[in-house]
Amino acid sequence: MSYALHLKCRDCERTYPLEPVAACEDCWAPLEVVYDYGKLWADLRREDLATRPPTMWRYKELLPLREEPYVGRQTGFTPLVAVPHLGAALGIRDLYVKNDSVNHPTLSFKDRVVAVALSKAHEFGFGTVGCSSTGNLANAVAAQAAAGGFRAYIFIPAELEQEKIIATQVYGANLVRVQGNYDQVNRLCSEVAQKHSWGIVNVNLRSYYAEGSKTVGYEIAEQLGWRLPQNVVVPMAGGALITKIHKAFDELKKLAWVNPASTRFFGAQATGCSPITTAAKRGTSEIDPQKPHTIARSLAIGNPADGPYAVKAILASGGAGEDVSDDEIVEGIRLLGETEGIFTETAGGVTVAVARKLIRQGRLNPEESTVLVITGNGLKTIGALQGRIAESALIRPKLDDFEEQFLTARATTAA
Ligand SMILES: *Cc1c(COP(=O)(O)O)cnc(C)c1O
Ligand SMILES: [Zn+2]
Repeated sequence: MSYALHLKCRDCERTYPLEPVAACEDCWAPLEVVYDYGKLWADLRREDLATRPPTMWRYKELLPLREEPYVGRQTGFTPLVAVPHLGAALGIRDLYVKNDSVNHPTLSFKDRVVAVALSKAHEFGFGTVGCSSTGNLANAVAAQAAAGGFRAYIFIPAELEQEKIIATQVYGANLVRVQGNYDQVNRLCSEVAQKHSWGIVNVNLRSYYAEGSKTVGYEIAEQLGWRLPQNVVVPMAGGALITKIHKAFDELKKLAWVNPASTRFFGAQATGCSPITTAAKRGTSEIDPQKPHTIARSLAIGNPADGPYAVKAILASGGAGEDVSDDEIVEGIRLLGETEGIFTETAGGVTVAVARKLIRQGRLNPEESTVLVITGNGLKTIGALQGRIAESALIRPKLDDFEEQFLTARATTAA
């Protein structure tokens, strides 16, 4: 079913067969899945997709599976929502939210990448899978491993949000809490992958896993009526999502499924972990690793594997990287909630707050169509809001109390 040909090193272009390989053996750069676009263009028209089910698998020819998906068959095709009230608050006319906070089954965009990775793990015959994670990947791997009957080992930094820890363990996965930050956890995971013949989602399955992120880009284009937005704002951790949305838009142009319009890519990070935006601001793709310190834990990767490629995509598109403080992240979460009724986690707060900052700086054109990529659900990072939202009044079960507390006070402030 796939048009995937081989893997190719992003730096030296050495090719590898479609096997579980972590990175290029010569230069350690990531490996990219290469497809037969000529054949794909000849065989498939975008109209052929119209009758397919609304999941990420409607683009299966552009994904690297040989067989039908083994897990995550309902994942993807999340809503693209016009958000005029948020647009009015930010001063942007044509604004949309790509809402992966309601992705199936674990409420983040990581469900897409894991659906590809574990389906591929099944094709390769791995019975045991695992990952290193900043939280959402842990949830997605644990859930889909349970559904697929895999044994799972999930490595996380010890001080992760309680919601994300419990939402991993509930699926019966082996949770390995490591004293250290994500980058240390990831190094341990690579050693495990070398020693044991397991499918580690973001190590030896990484090239396949990352391809799942492209479906965010295909969906945005299709949901806009096969049109590319003029701007996208994307949160970045390792930097894979933004580079894969970029790849997706390029592929759609190659297939002539969209007009060859150009899109500016804006990458969003928390100031407390901003190695990619810092490099983008300096105009270099050389990343200086950082020690993360931010409430946006899902984005807290201090040494991002795809960082250099994310910077290149951003700068080549005429976009920019920008970062925001923890207070601004909370404001971003609240702004999206109060204007549009969408509750996102800290990563989504980063996206909204960065969009607001870019508008204020005059770097994002308010007259152009813009999509904010909202990647995770607010119920997973409740703790980030604790103590930051005013406690509401406690009353006795009496009408007088209610009116006094809520109507009199409200009337006074309104007047
Ligand atoms: C992992 C993650 C990202 C960023 O993904 P990368 O591909 O590593 O850049 C963004 N948002 C959320 C909620 C995530 O969990
Ligand atoms: Zn190479």
